[in-house]
Amino acid sequence: MFVTKTIEDVRAHRWAKPALSWGLVPTMGTLHEGHLSLVRRARAENDRVGVSIFVNPIQFDRRADLEAYPRQLERDCALLEAEGVDLVWAPDEATVYPPGFQTYVTVEEVTKALEGAARPGHFRGVTTVVAKLFNVFQPTRAYFGQKDAQQAAVIRQMARDLSFNLEIVVCPIVREPDGLAMSSRNLLLKPEERPAALVLKRALDAARAAWESGERDGERLRAIMRAIIAAEPLARLDYVSAADPVTLAEIDGAASAALLSMAVFVGQVRLIDNTLLGAAGPA
Ligand code: AMP
Repeated sequence: MFVTKTIEDVRAHRWAKPALSWGLVPTMGTLHEGHLSLVRRARAENDRVGVSIFVNPIQFDRRADLEAYPRQLERDCALLEAEGVDLVWAPDEATVYPPGFQTYVTVEEVTKALEGAARPGHFRGVTTVVAKLFNVFQPTRAYFGQKDAQQAAVIRQMARDLSFNLEIVVCPIVREPDGLAMSSRNLLLKPEERPAALVLKRALDAARAAWESGERDGERLRAIMRAIIAAEPLARLDYVSAADPVTLAEIDGAASAALLSMAVFVGQVRLIDNTLLGAAGPA
């Protein structure tokens, strides 16, 4: 496994044998089984696998969140080596954003709701860095998690609109045995907050159960989730959503499919989770 900070090294590896297919897994590091599920899928579907590890400052809307974000490069590299990864790019900030950097990618519509509304500038940061990653690696396929459902929809939109020559693959959410969606941020939870973090999955499960009993009203599904989060003293709701899986517009009235999603602060840690009901859309 070759680990580098430079764009030149990534390009040299990528194009040493141009006929080989490459899978790219973009990450911010502090890897867990969720990330590794993407790596394994990439490993199974491509001749070579590249992973980027970069805590992208421009996608953080809160400085404290950026500063608190965990970083463990050595451990990450050991995990990736064991998965048979070929190339790791862990650039410095100045390599990704050299002095004078002034070009950003903005996806207009699908970024407006949910995470885009709650975290101004977040998706502009995500799409800018992912566009750069796509240009540096020029992968055959790029792998993203359904954990970040809106991010996956935004990146699909960007890839389509800007004609990136690659396939976007979205992989299922990987959870802890008790149901908590895996996240690098889970490490920041205090011991007494860890059980409270299960409230996200509990709320999604309750809304799913209502759906399976015939509930189709968007507002009633949101109300079920809100009530469960309100009952957890250590949790503070940021937003809850029952949205069209493709447009991400909130559902008023009856739905035939829905993306249920939420962001919840547990203590100081902001967690997100989601589930798809009914016919699965591309989100
Ligand atoms: P991050 O390091 O948080 O930027 O995540 C890198 C990639 O891993 C993103 O495409 C995430 O959606 C994906 N990912 C993070 N957590 C999970 C999870 N629990 N299950 C599946 N994919 C995940």
